[in-house]
Amino acid sequence: MSVIQIKKKKEISETYDLIVAGGGLAGVAAACSAAREGLKVLLIEKYGFLGGMATSALVYPFMPHTESGGVLANAGLFLELLQETNMLSGNKDLNSRYCLTEFLKIALDRMIEKYGVTVLFHSKLSDVEFRDRKVMSITVATISGNIKLSAPIFIDATGNADMCAFAGLPYQIGRDEDGLCQPMTLCFRLANIDNNRFDRKAAVALYKEFQKKGLIKNTRENILSFKFPVDNVRHFNTTRVIGYDPTDVEQLTVAEFEARKQMFEMYRFLRDNVEGCENCKLIESAPEIGIRESRRIIGYYEITADDITGTVKFKDSIARCTYAIDIHNPSGTGTIYEKIPENDYYTIPYRAMIPVDADNIIVAGRPLSSTHEAHSSFRIMPVTTCIGEAAGIAASLVKKYGCVPSDVDTKVLQNILIKNGALV
Ligand SMILES: Cc1cc2nc3c(=O)[nH]c(=O)nc-3n(C[C@H](O)[C@H](O)[C@H](O)COP(=O)(O)OP(=O)(O)OC[C@H]3O[C@@H](n4cnc5c(N)ncnc54)[C@H](O)[C@@H]3O)c2cc1C
Repeated sequence: MSVIQIKKKKEISETYDLIVAGGGLAGVAAACSAAREGLKVLLIEKYGFLGGMATSALVYPFMPHTESGGVLANAGLFLELLQETNMLSGNKDLNSRYCLTEFLKIALDRMIEKYGVTVLFHSKLSDVEFRDRKVMSITVATISGNIKLSAPIFIDATGNADMCAFAGLPYQIGRDEDGLCQPMTLCFRLANIDNNRFDRKAAVALYKEFQKKGLIKNTRENILSFKFPVDNVRHFNTTRVIGYDPTDVEQLTVAEFEARKQMFEMYRFLRDNVEGCENCKLIESAPEIGIRESRRIIGYYEITADDITGTVKFKDSIARCTYAIDIHNPSGTGTIYEKIPENDYYTIPYRAMIPVDADNIIVAGRPLSSTHEAHSSFRIMPVTTCIGEAAGIAASLVKKYGCVPSDVDTKVLQNILIKNGALV
């Protein structure tokens, strides 16, 4: 028997202009757009694939990337990714929002290769050395041990603002009255459903009866499911795990167990009681429970519900959003859904991406500075991808002009976004 010991700690000898933490859609877009601007970029991701909630939590489908009348609102790298995914899966409608997860993973890999980003998979940001308003280094936990990495600028695209939190920066979490976040949801897919006989309305009526009798524990008011581009398969986004803090590892663990119980409950309810589901099989649940909401940074601007319903167009806009305020009740049944006016959009201000207490972090994706209500709207995947694209360009401007992120000239940022096909 040979015995092997790790004698020397793993080191990464390359130096990078930018380190992006988190390879979700925001992180990939940030890394690719920065690399496109000439930066040497390292992207670290805790799993062995990219996509974040879209792949690790099987979140599906993309919410609309257009205004209600069909005018495009989210383009740039998002559109490139959407079309590449549909092209790879053989979908004739390249702009379809109903994308197959496995092809999305491949499209993301291709995007990384195309723009020349270096990726470290299976690498979890675990600590941050923060001094004089700057991240000096980060520690990444890997199979080769802990690795320390540094760069002049960082993008926090972890979805939960891990980098900001580990740096000790302040943040908000949940709704004002009790700090509760939107529910977590384990997405799953059922096969062998006869869609011709499956009547969602009838299924929901029966589900409510079962709930009343205490036979169903899930507090969700109905069954949320979507058509899927594979025959006889349906996607379910219907578990509702409430009352847990997704940034507390013990509570997150309990949430995973509870979610699987709810999934099994729903599967059995459908199989045993709903027409068209008699032969259904549970074929897949997401590798992890989906987190809708967690930490929100304290940035130079806090996006509010009024900005959304008032369709505010900010001077420092870096992306558009057409989605409603959509709050799944953090403490029980019901969903608040408030649409924005027809054929309109609001914008995301660059200032919401910059933590007020740091001089070398840009935040991309869902943890932007915002209220609980506002967050429920811009968190959708087309928008977080666009926010990521802007973050990468902003990082390139920090390098080019030797400035701090809060001093980036947003006119220049907007011009580069537009030149590259994005909409601001
Ligand atoms: C249940 C549910 C349903 C939803 N429904 C829809 C929908 O129908 N349509 C829609 O468009 N949007 C929907 N959303 C919202 C959307 O999926 C997310 O808000 C969006 O994907 C967030 O993207 P992101 O890149 O900011 O973060 P994430 O997708 O969370 O990506 C973060 C990435 O960072 C990695 N990471 C995290 N921490 C670390 C760390 N410490 N070190 C290294 N890597 C790390 C993660 O593995 C992940 O790859 C839903 C969300 C949920 C949870």
